[in-house]
Amino acid sequence: MTLTAAVVAVGDELLLGDTVNTNASWLGGELARVGVQVVASVMVGDDLARMAVALRRALEDAEVVVVTGGLGPTSDDITREAVAAAAGVELVRDPDLVQELKDRFAAYGYPMPADVLKQADVPVGGSPLHNPVGSAPGLRLEIAGRLLYALPGPPYELQAVMAVVLDELRARSASSLHTRTVHTSGLGEPAVAEVIGQGVAVPEGVALAYLAGGGVVRVRFTGSDDTVVRRLADRAAELLGEHAWGRDDERLDEVVHRELAARGATVAVAESLTGGLLGAALSRMPGSSATFRGSLVVYATDLKESLAGVPGPLLASAGAVSAETAGALAIGARERLGATYGIGATGVAGPTEQEGQPVGTVHLAVSGPGDAVVRSLRVPGDRDRVRLLTVSAALDLLRKQLVLDRVVL
Ligand code: AMP
Ligand code: MG
Repeated sequence: MTLTAAVVAVGDELLLGDTVNTNASWLGGELARVGVQVVASVMVGDDLARMAVALRRALEDAEVVVVTGGLGPTSDDITREAVAAAAGVELVRDPDLVQELKDRFAAYGYPMPADVLKQADVPVGGSPLHNPVGSAPGLRLEIAGRLLYALPGPPYELQAVMAVVLDELRARSASSLHTRTVHTSGLGEPAVAEVIGQGVAVPEGVALAYLAGGGVVRVRFTGSDDTVVRRLADRAAELLGEHAWGRDDERLDEVVHRELAARGATVAVAESLTGGLLGAALSRMPGSSATFRGSLVVYATDLKESLAGVPGPLLASAGAVSAETAGALAIGARERLGATYGIGATGVAGPTEQEGQPVGTVHLAVSGPGDAVVRSLRVPGDRDRVRLLTVSAALDLLRKQLVLDRVVL
């Protein structure tokens, strides 16, 4: 039987929207991976009575309760008090923890504010969880057969302390869940779902999910048998063909880098509407100096001619936002920056139309050793989204071209 868990994220900043509750999403994923099913995930402000209510409810809901936040030294951090109240026990100061805190401050050469010592308080019957990266230890407490863990709020500290907790939970939970994901580009979510629906028989006990965002649709299979789940992902990737570009934790820029490196090839960019974002993406991978030559950010029309070599008459006749200009930018990037492949990107990021073309009009081109390809598309969304989706579409166009060229060469 799978263990169930409830997550309680504490802090006024979460309720006000100042901080996004990323701890809940991180915990949801990690707990699922060790076979613990999260059945509820809630947020509560820094209020003792409300926190105690939320904790009691969580303890009724699930066998394991994971609390994050409110373990700091300031007066608004009262998770220790709330845990003690929910369990109906007192807090006692742990002399070992007091010493650890004193040593920690001494090592840094800071005077220790008196409030810090409240981080050494532990509810009776509970034990501290060592925090290797911060001053606030976590807490572990059994309450009427249920397990409660309280962890620091800063994501970096939460993740460090949680490592031990995850090991403990993995050992307790009878089954663990395996997840395999296939990433696709170039097809909408319904089209991907149609391909999978027609060609992949999903057995009972395996969950299939579609996750769309940033121009990418992810197909995710989750189940207890890793071999089964992996076979389903293999089948899905096969059916999706050239649209499937990666697996699990892979990113598109990573795949592009790897495909370029495998061929000893390089890429250069002449980009307009993305203002350098495409160059940023192509330089994200460590070691990208082997595959990325550089990017010309030719935002102004005259720079498209003077820096990227787009012919003036072509700019005048076709316009700066055109398939022809994208093609000339790709050629210019490739030739002027001395790369195997050139990418050209031009379009209208918005918020207003340009040269009579609507917001979201994007022209992309890739020039390489084989035939050049040009792709004109309309992408949805505001300025930020248009620019982001353009980067993703440009990387995907290059990736597809690399796969095609492998056949040609
Ligand atoms: P605390 O442990 O309550 O002192 O939290 C310290 C800091 O951790 C907060 O100011 C946030 O920046 C961050 N934090 C707290 N809770 C969360 C959460 N649920 N998700 C992401 N960050 C958080
Ligand atoms: Mg707080």
